Amino acid sequence: MSRSIAIWGATGSIGQQTLDVIRRHPHEFEVFALTARSASDQLIRSCEEFRPRFAVVRDHAVSELVSKLKGVNSKTAVLSYRDQSALTEIYAAQVTVTAVTGAAGLDSVVESIRAGSRVLIANKEPVVMLGRLLQDLIHKHGTAVLPVDSELNAIFQCSGGLSGGQFQPFQKIAGLRRILLTGSGGPFLKTELDALIHVTPQQAVAHPIWSMGAKISVDSATMMNKGLEIIEVRWFFDTPPEKIKVVVHPQGIVHSMVEYEDGSVLAQLGSPDMRIPISNTLFWPDRRSSGAEFLNLTQLSGLNFQKPDFIRYPCLKLAHAVARAGGTSAAVMNASNEEAVAAFLSSKIHFPCIARVVRESVERLGDHRVESIEHIQAADAQARIVARESIQKMSI
Ligand code: NAD
Ligand code: MG
Repeated sequence: MSRSIAIWGATGSIGQQTLDVIRRHPHEFEVFALTARSASDQLIRSCEEFRPRFAVVRDHAVSELVSKLKGVNSKTAVLSYRDQSALTEIYAAQVTVTAVTGAAGLDSVVESIRAGSRVLIANKEPVVMLGRLLQDLIHKHGTAVLPVDSELNAIFQCSGGLSGGQFQPFQKIAGLRRILLTGSGGPFLKTELDALIHVTPQQAVAHPIWSMGAKISVDSATMMNKGLEIIEVRWFFDTPPEKIKVVVHPQGIVHSMVEYEDGSVLAQLGSPDMRIPISNTLFWPDRRSSGAEFLNLTQLSGLNFQKPDFIRYPCLKLAHAVARAGGTSAAVMNASNEEAVAAFLSSKIHFPCIARVVRESVERLGDHRVESIEHIQAADAQARIVARESIQKMSI
């Protein structure tokens, strides 16, 4: 029997790759809702092909989408993100993929967990922001939540995911010594440090291994992406930050490893193609084809691992400290990073200023115990104000 699925952020890199896996298994899912920020041609094409019951966009794009869909597809009803009561039905789809970028995806993560959907989380920023609260929400609602982010999915596969049917997110991995979180180091792994001030947004988004949205590509270049993942892992696998080690692995073949007390190290390998973790979570505990290329081990040039250089990647060092602090500073780090990355992408600040903006924001606002979602949203809003002040000072 096919399951209803809602994809939040359907026009992006993860959203489209999810639709590609679904396309390969047409009898498994009924696409119930597709959401996006605007009424892009990509959204129209996906609505035409998958004929969802609902398409959801931000308020400004509703009338545009209604008129563009006329004559293309009369089955799809258009809703606005603002229309929270109408969205209830979508949050309760049997399966949800959260693939919005940034804190803008917070509601889709929280509400689909509350509605008891099976939630496949790609959108890491809300996990980072919510921390312990997300753990409480999942336990309260008994929701199954699976990680799409490739490193977390690798850890999932090397731990509880292997025991088929038994995995519960936000539980400790028994016998764990360390989690070895791998990251490619991004496009500037070997760039002279002095030259980083000159790198352009085009160079920063040209990731050597993965094809991703602009924001996460810049995060990979600063390694803030790995910093966000440390915090994501910290909560998802209930692991103390000191047990999470980042390892630079330029080839992007080993997607992370779990080291156990007896000396065993379990790794998950695969082509750098997000359709693998997407397919793993869509069909878990079964395994189905994803469309990704199979690995040819004898043709690999080698697998290298090295320690991260904290001078090159100051965001990574900062994220370690934020992970240890454990409170609102994670939301502050995330929000100020979103502001700084947006400023860099529109050529308002130089690349090395991203880390400076984030550090200033975290230092100015400090860390406080997380009390509620509203408390986190307030920290996010305050961080954006403080970050914009720093951006203003550093603007080119
Ligand atoms: P993307 O920029 O390609 O797509 C983002 C999607 O979110 C689009 O559909 C866009 O319309 C929608 N969106 C953006 N802002 C919105 C807003 N304010 N309101 C509503 N919708 C909005 O991003 P992506 O690369 O697909 O990444 C999505 C998420 O998945 C991010 O959190 C990222 O960190 C995570 N992730 C991505 C990858 C990857 O390979 N792309 C890998 C791991 C994790
Ligand atoms: Mg990742």
